[in-house]
Amino acid sequence: MTSNRRFHIAVMPGDGIGPEVIDAALAVLGAATGDGAGFALDFEHLAAGAGAWRDTGTAMSEQTFERAKAADAILLGAMGLPDVRYPDGTEIAPQLDLRFRLGLYAGVRPVRALPGGARPLADPRGADIDLVIVRESTEGLFASRGKGVVEDDRVARDTMVITRETCERLFDASFHLARRRRARGGRGRVTCVDKSNVFASMAFFRRIFDECAARHPDIEAAHHYVDAAALDLVRKPWEFDVMVTENMFGDILSDLTAALVGGMGMAPSADIGDGHGVFQPAHGSAPDIAGRGIANPLAAIQTAAMMLDWLAERHGVEACAEAGRRIDAAVAAVLAAGSPRPADLGGTDGTETVARAVIAAL
Ligand code: NAD
Repeated sequence: MTSNRRFHIAVMPGDGIGPEVIDAALAVLGAATGDGAGFALDFEHLAAGAGAWRDTGTAMSEQTFERAKAADAILLGAMGLPDVRYPDGTEIAPQLDLRFRLGLYAGVRPVRALPGGARPLADPRGADIDLVIVRESTEGLFASRGKGVVEDDRVARDTMVITRETCERLFDASFHLARRRRARGGRGRVTCVDKSNVFASMAFFRRIFDECAARHPDIEAAHHYVDAAALDLVRKPWEFDVMVTENMFGDILSDLTAALVGGMGMAPSADIGDGHGVFQPAHGSAPDIAGRGIANPLAAIQTAAMMLDWLAERHGVEACAEAGRRIDAAVAAVLAAGSPRPADLGGTDGTETVARAVIAAL
């Protein structure tokens, strides 16, 4: 075990509620990593996003990208504003460039129903929702970003790309995740979510999944078509463990699963590659509530805990994993207490109040 290790964290608050929830996450990280924590975090703030593009003409400068790339981890708020767009009508989204350029193929989005949290659905037998969507994040339909064509204002084409190399890494990471989760009580199952009944790309995706599954015989491998997965995520979400899927499907399904536990304010996320990790709540910049101090910071705070867990596993710093677990326990304690309660969970408490309660629970 390494003690007193220092980690350099690049912080990109971004747009809208991004800076609000990142401030909250940084306050919690500060409280969880005080004297005696056994490791320390050094934060470097970097500007990127729609606001940066509007102010400077660049969504993320090369210098900013290089600083972020050199960091041990990147903590990101949210980027993009619906009324700030490139001439082709698409939005400014440098967080997608980070995923592509740093090879962050695994978008890991845990969904856990916590006592006291919102539960629009309930299993009559009392089982709890505890699943993870692993969204491939560097190719799939998103490979067409910036390359789609509109011909004569009559036909538009975007192309899906699936590669063996990325799939193998993605599936191996998913089986590894299921194994780690099983050690903490998980089911030990990976479900491949695809549309292999229709598309050659998706049949290829499933074939590689089956090949990888054979290398992980200790973990159960299952299949679901994406449309049926949407149905069953509403009918019986408590039956899933790790679900691995194509980029666009994961984009859509992970918003659905966020709704199962109270909405985007409860949806942490990490984009993981072999050499880098970007940690950002799954939500966007929420312009409808930005600037009002009412954003739920719990997704960002849980995302910060995921960052600590990843740093711990990568660098063998157990104290870091312990700090992540303490943050998760503090979030659970605040929800279980019922007060304070963020507005999106039916309460009346603002971002800062909720963050202060998490710090007190630490
Ligand atoms: P959104 O996630 O910003 O908001 C969807 C809904 O969830 C809204 O009602 C919003 O108020 C609510 N919400 C989101 N986060 C919340 C929080 N922490 N607390 C309480 N409520 C919360 O999605 P959108 O409205 O489709 O997109 C808004 C902007 O964000 C767009 O410009 C979009 O491109 C961008 N976006 C960025 C990312 C990212 O940076 N990773 C992800 C999604 C969307």
